[in-house]
Amino acid sequence: MSQGSNNGGGSSSSAGGGSKTIVVRARGTTGQEQIRLRVNNTTVQTWTLSTNMQNYTATTNLSGGSVVEFFNDGGNRDVQVDYISVNGNIRQSEHQTYNTGVYQNGQCGGGNGYSEWMHCNGAIGYGNL
Ligand code: CA
Ligand code: CA
Repeated sequence: MSQGSNNGGGSSSSAGGGSKTIVVRARGTTGQEQIRLRVNNTTVQTWTLSTNMQNYTATTNLSGGSVVEFFNDGGNRDVQVDYISVNGNIRQSEHQTYNTGVYQNGQCGGGNGYSEWMHCNGAIGYGNL
């Protein structure tokens, strides 16, 4: 079961590497938005988004619930997350019911999710890794 200790070098600032590769495809409306990938309540990596859809990649050995959190809302900042992929398996944001950042029914997180958007500080949940 060992994956060995293949650290590989690289220039990213991710926390430790690991056997699971997570790609977050997202953009922000102003280019100032910051998001972080959290697994089992541990931050794996933080990114500042572009206004164009881009893929942001992290690796981890963590298991547990996975969320993408938007945490610096303000001004005109909003975040659109197309999907995450876990070792190549895509989990669409618009298929997830946990979204505390989307503005629905008059409040942040006030609906049933199924949205790519976070207008407010909050998170989209993508299930367990
Ligand atoms: Ca999508
Ligand atoms: Ca906003």
